[in-house]
Parts: sequence; C-alpha cells; structure tokens
Amino acid sequence: MPRVDADLKLDFKDVLFRPKRSSLKSRSEVDLARTFTFRNSKQTYHGIPIIAANMDTTGTFEMARVLSKHTLFTAMQKHYSLDEWKTFAVNHPECLEAGNVVTGEMVEELILSGADIIKVGIGPGSVCTTRIKTGVGYPQLSAVIECADSAHGLKGHIISDGGCSCPGDVAKAFGAGADFVMMGGMLAGHDQCLGEVVQKDGKKVKLFYGMSSDTAMKKYVGGVAEYRASEGRTVEVPYRGDVENTIRDILGGLRSTCTYVGAAKLKELSRRTTFIRVTQQASTMFH
Ligand code: 5GP
Repeated sequence: MPRVDADLKLDFKDVLFRPKRSSLKSRSEVDLARTFTFRNSKQTYHGIPIIAANMDTTGTFEMARVLSKHTLFTAMQKHYSLDEWKTFAVNHPECLEAGNVVTGEMVEELILSGADIIKVGIGPGSVCTTRIKTGVGYPQLSAVIECADSAHGLKGHIISDGGCSCPGDVAKAFGAGADFVMMGGMLAGHDQCLGEVVQKDGKKVKLFYGMSSDTAMKKYVGGVAEYRASEGRTVEVPYRGDVENTIRDILGGLRSTCTYVGAAKLKELSRRTTFIRVTQQASTMFH
C-alpha cells in the first residue's frame, strides 16, 4: 500500500525568522564570506556562497565578471559533450558535485560515494514544471533543513538550488542550513543575461527559460525527445538593468537578516535561526 507521510513540510513563504537580541551595531559589521574544506577532495573554498544557476541566460561570462567582484560565483551554462565530461571527470574526480536530491538518505548515499557538495531541490525552480508534469517534489525549506542535517553529519556540504524569489528567501535558505544558495530567476532579465531586450506592450522584457523547456531542448538537441515531456517554462521577465544593483540588494538583505538575529557572520546564521510559521509573509495591501 502506498504510504502517506503526514509530517508538515514547509516552503520559504511559510516561515519568517524570529528576531533575536543582537549586539551588532551596523550591517557593515556582518561577514558574509565562508571558508569550507570539502570532505572528500580536501579542496578549500572561500567566498560569499551564492551561485548563479548554470542556465543559458544566467550562466554567462558577463554574469561571472560582475559576481566574481563580490566573490560570488557563476555556474557556466556551456553544454559539453559526453566525451568532454568523461575526460573532465577522470582528470578531476574532486569536482563532481552531485544532485539533485531532496531527502537525507540520498544526500548520505552521494556523500559516501564520493561527492562533496550535494544540490538540493526538486521542483522549486521559477521556470520548472516538474511538479506539474510529474507530481514529484518536496517543499524547499524542509528539504534544505533535512538534507543539511544529513550532509553536515558527514561533514559534507549542500547547495539549496531553486525557489528563491526575493532576498529574504536567500536568507531563509542559509538559515535552514544551506552552505551555498543557487539562483536563476532572481538574476534573470539583466544586462549580463543572454538574449536581447525586446519591447512588449510598451515594456522592456528579456526571455528566460528552463533548461528542460522546449526552448532549450530545441536549441541543444533539436527538440523534446518523444519519450519525455518538457519540464521547463519559457517566460518574458521585466528588463532589470545591471545585475550589480540586484546583487547589492541580495547581499544587503542578507546582512540585515544577520543583524536581526544577532549573527556576526553568515556562518552563525543557521545556529541563530528560529523560524516561526506564518500564514502571511508580508502585507498585500498595495499589490
Ligand atoms: P530559480 O532560482 O529560478 O527558482 O531556480 C533555478 C534552478 O531551477 C536551476 O538551478 C535548476 O536546478 C532548475 N531548473 C532550471 N531549468 C529547469 C527546467 O527546465 N526544469 C526544471 N525542472 N528545473 C530547472
């Protein structure tokens, strides 16, 4: 008989941080950089652990140029051939980050089989239709809380991948225990994204699409294969100018979260986090 797990699972929108006493005087005192040494490869990382998704429109050299100034990094979108990947994997066993998963036992299995960083997220993405097409998924906040716990127990690391729609969500992903946060939609529509700005009904827009959308599959493999459905959307997003401003907004928000809960460093955020369940995240009066 199929089992129904009746434990409540939550998304970013279902919670808020409970403010805590803080001796921090200014947001500028907050240190967002982290240093990690990875369990299997023993490589080290230092920087602000936010990653632009390896999607066509956001994983660009232009994006990398701006993000790297802030010590953020960009997962490149380039489509490598299988042979290129095989050669790379043989020569660099230390880099094959694994995913995507949403449960603790799968995280443990991947780390024990040699992965250092596990990507967490099935279906939360802004242009993802997996939940609609397949009925499979897991609310992202709970997925991150559970997977971070399993990964950290083995000294592994996780990336919360997808589902952040505002700076507060990025903070919640870190508060839930993510070591890295990956985002696509929040970085879409900027000068640094692939594609032209077009006028639509008097507004400037740019195209943004999922990597399993018809658009991406037509581009790379000549269309959606007969045996599968596309699991991504193609959308027009408002043109948002230079991504520099958006990055400042995200990092400013994150520093502010840290001051509200009394974390002097991003490293301390999850330890200082108590989430409260809410029925409404913010006022909708003027929306
Ligand atoms: P976002 O930050 O836009 O909410 O989510 C970005 C993430 O969505 C990506 O890092 C990737 O994991 C996921 N994603 C990108 N394109 C697709 C797609 O076409 N289908 C699905 N299921 N997920 C996608």
